[in-house]
Amino acid sequence: MMEHEIKRVRTQAFIHCAKEPTQKQYERLTKFLEGEYEAPVKLVWKQDEKLTNGFRIEVGTDVDRWSLGSVYDWTTQGKTAQLKEEIVDGLSAGPDVIPLLRDTAANFRAKAEPREVGTVLTVGDGIATLSGLERCFYGEIILFDCGVRGMVQSLSPDHVGCILFGDDGEITSGSLACRTKATAGLPVGEGFLGRVIGPLGSPLDGLGAIPSEEFRPIESPAPGIIDRQPVDTPMETGLLTIDAMFPIGRGQRELIIGDRQTGKTAIALDTILNQRDRDVVCIYVAIGQKASSVAQLVETLRRHDALKYTVVVAATAGDPAPVQYIAPYSGCALGEYFMNQGRDVLIVYDDLSKHAVAYRSMSLLLERSPGREAYPGDVFYLHSRLLERAARLSEERGGGSMTALPIVETQAGDVSAYIPTNIISITDGQIFLESDLFFSGQRPAVNVGLSVSRVGGDAQTKAMKSAVGTLRLDLAQYREMEVFTQFSSDLDDNTKGQLAYGQSLMRLLRQEQYHPLKMHQQVILLVAALSHAMQDVPLEELSAFRDGLLDFAERQIPELCQEIEDVGAKLTQEQRERILDMVRRYQSKLAAVKENG
Ligand code: ATP
Ligand code: MG
Repeated sequence: MMEHEIKRVRTQAFIHCAKEPTQKQYERLTKFLEGEYEAPVKLVWKQDEKLTNGFRIEVGTDVDRWSLGSVYDWTTQGKTAQLKEEIVDGLSAGPDVIPLLRDTAANFRAKAEPREVGTVLTVGDGIATLSGLERCFYGEIILFDCGVRGMVQSLSPDHVGCILFGDDGEITSGSLACRTKATAGLPVGEGFLGRVIGPLGSPLDGLGAIPSEEFRPIESPAPGIIDRQPVDTPMETGLLTIDAMFPIGRGQRELIIGDRQTGKTAIALDTILNQRDRDVVCIYVAIGQKASSVAQLVETLRRHDALKYTVVVAATAGDPAPVQYIAPYSGCALGEYFMNQGRDVLIVYDDLSKHAVAYRSMSLLLERSPGREAYPGDVFYLHSRLLERAARLSEERGGGSMTALPIVETQAGDVSAYIPTNIISITDGQIFLESDLFFSGQRPAVNVGLSVSRVGGDAQTKAMKSAVGTLRLDLAQYREMEVFTQFSSDLDDNTKGQLAYGQSLMRLLRQEQYHPLKMHQQVILLVAALSHAMQDVPLEELSAFRDGLLDFAERQIPELCQEIEDVGAKLTQEQRERILDMVRRYQSKLAAVKENG
């Protein structure tokens, strides 16, 4: 800080022009600069024969070593450049070129606005340090003279650290860069639906430019408590395990956590597919994945007709760490745009472990001190400020919502590592996936004991709530008893029955990818299973039984199906009886079919 102040006192400025300014000009310029920089300025003339028409002032503030701070370009070239900028700005507004040119030229007044420039000291690994740029702020976008953009990420008294969003090959020590006075942001708009974009909004799908409606900064404060309302509408995943036991509400943040290859992405993807015809905007943010995986996912979305309501924001493993770092914030900003219009948004961050790793490498290169597991100290804030932006807005704010499904990868099921514990504590619950279950064929491999959803219960429909009944308890009991299965021959009939019941429940929770279940289907299955109706079905026949039963229900009790789907009221005893009666009829029909061969 001290160092900084000393420098401020001795501001140095050079005026480049052909003829030395008069005493009066010196005084006026010095006074102007001192007003701008709030410090005494020493103005020195440097002769430049070429500048007969105007002058250029370079201001710097270094004590020992001259370093450029900002440039006032009052030469013909400088003024032309300003005019050009105004015309280009105007062109983006409309196609009427002639009136625009006439107006701009007539009203043009060159402004004595400095271009604040800095000089690159070092560059490498997607990070540049610069001197100068004294007044830049954290998060500001810096434009390098080769056209690459960067973002200020560290401010120290004698230099600023800047992450680069492009190839650092063209930037060398000594290159110039100027302030833009803007924070990082991206264009947003309806046109982004169905598109695959990079974190700064550029299209990656080769389908041409994307029309945008506004420009949003990637970071913005989360809605305050007054702007929110409680979560009370379900965000249905179409997965029986989750909708029944760990319901997610619109505006909630539910973590999907598990080892690699345990079906984490599959759950998020199924949830997106299940939003078809539900007027939910989906955003899938891919961070640090292989480009081929992202391409495959996009293809799956397209195949299931889900791409039209989805935006994919991709920062793949091949992208520099800074690009991966901003990807989730960009996705979130896009989500906020839709949320602020009163729409419901589902956003998936796949995955935040890779995001943290990208941030760690960036921070280490910026010479921040490493903490636990070598992550920088603010890694918690990295994810909390992102996930806090998920919300259910109040009616005054339009009533939109953004539901976040962050994904975290664990190592050997260790949820007590740094990043997993952080994110578990930020989110409203977690769906814990387990390799053992996955490999035993129990997919989705949800560990029912360790998963939880804290606010979603309020969002679950009454019909579902009344159908779920004792499912979690029954499964817990089954898990305790499961160890006995190995000695099943020694068991009494009662215990055998309970085991068979538990097994049938577990089997029922298995669900193929891309086969979401509607709410009424889930309710019917739960009512049937919890009444022990599926206990005697051989396990390998259970999935066929399930499909047949749902088909049968659709034909036999269509009004009830419709009513559960549309109203979702608590099941009455009479409705329950109708479902069970339908199940019995289906079973006798099956038995009859079997008998007749
Ligand atoms: P990674 O750690 O590589 O990101 P992941 O945890 O996201 O993996 P997925 O890619 O979703 O896991 O799934 C791994 C594999 O398991 C995929 O081939 C997927 O098709 C398959 N799979 C996932 N869920 C199911 C399911 N319910 N039924 C059948 N196969 C599934
Ligand atoms: Mg995955």
